[in-house]
Amino acid sequence: MEILYKSTRSDSTPITASRAILKGLAADGGLFVPTAIPKLDVSLKELSDMSYQETAYRVMRLFLTDFTEEELRTCIDRAYDDKFDTKEIAPLKEVNNAFYLELFHGATIAFKDMALSILPHLLTTSAKKNGVKNEIVILTATSGDTGKAALAGFADVKGTKIIVFYPKNGVSPIQEKQMVTQKGDNTHVVGIHGNFDDTQTGVKKIFSDKALAKEMEEKGFQFSSANSINIGRLVPQVVYYVYAYANLLRQGKIKEGETINVVVPTGNFGNILAAYYAKNMGLPIGKLICASNDNKVLFDFFESGVYDRNREFFLTSSPSMDILISSNLERLIYKIAGEDHDKNAALMEALSQKGVYEITSDMRDKLTDFAGGYASEEQCFAIIRKVYEETGYVMDTHTAVAASVYEDYKKNSKDETKTVIASTASPYKFTRSVMKAISEKYDAMGDFELVDELSRISKTPVPNAIEEIRTAAVLHDTVCEKEEMESVVKKFLGV
Ligand SMILES: *Cc1c(COP(=O)(O)O)cnc(C)c1O
Repeated sequence: MEILYKSTRSDSTPITASRAILKGLAADGGLFVPTAIPKLDVSLKELSDMSYQETAYRVMRLFLTDFTEEELRTCIDRAYDDKFDTKEIAPLKEVNNAFYLELFHGATIAFKDMALSILPHLLTTSAKKNGVKNEIVILTATSGDTGKAALAGFADVKGTKIIVFYPKNGVSPIQEKQMVTQKGDNTHVVGIHGNFDDTQTGVKKIFSDKALAKEMEEKGFQFSSANSINIGRLVPQVVYYVYAYANLLRQGKIKEGETINVVVPTGNFGNILAAYYAKNMGLPIGKLICASNDNKVLFDFFESGVYDRNREFFLTSSPSMDILISSNLERLIYKIAGEDHDKNAALMEALSQKGVYEITSDMRDKLTDFAGGYASEEQCFAIIRKVYEETGYVMDTHTAVAASVYEDYKKNSKDETKTVIASTASPYKFTRSVMKAISEKYDAMGDFELVDELSRISKTPVPNAIEEIRTAAVLHDTVCEKEEMESVVKKFLGV
């Protein structure tokens, strides 16, 4: 079955997967969605014998139907290789009766690597397939993790340049150091005076500027996105849910067909949407539990049917979830609106004009797959400490939000379904917060002293990604106001 991609906001002609990957965002500002969610065409039993790479092929081929087998396998082999520090790519750890799906074994030790190590290959393959001669300029807004993962993925990839914007005071010291030390002649990193939403809004504005696009075209450039709105990000993320299920089956932890729940620490709603797509493909998933931090706009949405971004914005110790506009939620809204693009467009217009929209009760009825929860800073620290003390396992602050929400969910619902917790970052990426959660005595230690202490107490080796930046030189020092983003882009490109 051929799958095409259409916009969530208007009745435009559906396009192939490779063209949707090249475009990133639809011309009308909408997101690309598949014309249908394909069904898994191999049994779970068969999948349970497959490697990560083979599973990736079996899942992705169903979505990216205009890629040849050779093209897709080449992309997969280049992405999921020894950049990952484990052959399993996404191992599952059983801790305290939950299964932590560790998505942080890639180059930058956060789950963004799962998609961003393959996106550059999908993108350059898509360019070749469609006869694109322009150089592709990746523009990315990051709340911390996407930026470095995108930089690492695109660095020195021929025919591409990448410009990453981040909120200057909204990322962790290690996240910032990881980005500003990035090598590669085609990489640029810029700090913005503002928060993540300002940064993301600025990037979206550049994307939708038609005059600028024309100017770029004349100079032989075209923009594309590495943000989680690109379907080339979303599709690779479906893979690890299928792989996790197959892994549970292989280990005899579940029976074939048994339902599992998943808990996902959520920001832009990309990761949990991928789990929802996996469920729609036929993977036996029961509840999709959406975990938020103090920026609980999604929790309130699932409770009330009202999405309201007009609220105080908190900087938390899980910065990659400090988001008030969850872009990928639009794909779910479109789906529960009965794939009615006008209805979705009206809601998104309300969000952009007033910062708030309310869905109908019919739409709410279609949200029963989801449960929402949130964890305060105290709860997040408490669970890191508790799980460490009970088991020796150390989790990062984002994963802790999910673990805490899961604990509450289980207590309130009495739902004992076996559960996978998406573990989205290595504790080494947020060492200071993690160690502070474990004991106040670590407050006085320096960043890298803490890294060594974490290694000692968790009995895990310091990841390469951290070793690398201990001594690396700062190569990027541009900082600008949010109004200056476009001129900074032009300057980098010499336009
Ligand atoms: C990006 C990120 C998230 C949020 O994922 P979304 O797909 O944006 O919902 C959670 N945790 C970490 C560590 C991240 O980097």
